[in-house]
Amino acid sequence: MNYATIKWVDIANGEGVRISLFVSGCTHHCKNCFNQVAWDFAYGEPFTAEVEEKILSELSSDYIAGLSLLGGEPLEPQNQEALLPFLKKVKERCPNKSVWMYTGYVLNEETGELRETHKNTPFTKELISLTDVLVDGAFVEELKDIRLKFRGSSNQRVINVPKTLQEKKCVLYLE
Ligand code: SF4
Repeated sequence: MNYATIKWVDIANGEGVRISLFVSGCTHHCKNCFNQVAWDFAYGEPFTAEVEEKILSELSSDYIAGLSLLGGEPLEPQNQEALLPFLKKVKERCPNKSVWMYTGYVLNEETGELRETHKNTPFTKELISLTDVLVDGAFVEELKDIRLKFRGSSNQRVINVPKTLQEKKCVLYLE
């Protein structure tokens, strides 16, 4: 997996001060996408063990609330495989830090996987279960609303993942 950029101090993509990892590769191609360079899976730099370690080390800082995963598309099948072992390490070493993930796909609340079943892999369910807050759905220009918090368009949901998986119905983290 390649990544497009890392923001080490980010307050725009989730609650609190966060580290945001923008992975490369996205097949949604939304109109007026904010990050078109990251559509290419080969864009950016390789996500090496050194990069992982640097993120894990910085995450332990007191002022960092957690990690946000964006893109590109973290839940493209190619990226799921690389992100699962990394997220496991994040949860092991930084259990008090929250994980937010932004995806253009849509969560199936009953299965804990994606409604776009052709994008589900053997990694999808566990990857989602390690996420605290999932912002799902593609950005839709016609539904853009700048008053919305932590999302761009009103079709997107800010989902409380643990409660949603427990209740098998969508529980929002933010309205
Ligand atoms: S899902 Fe995100 S990165 Fe992908 S095209 Fe849409 S806005 Fe751009």
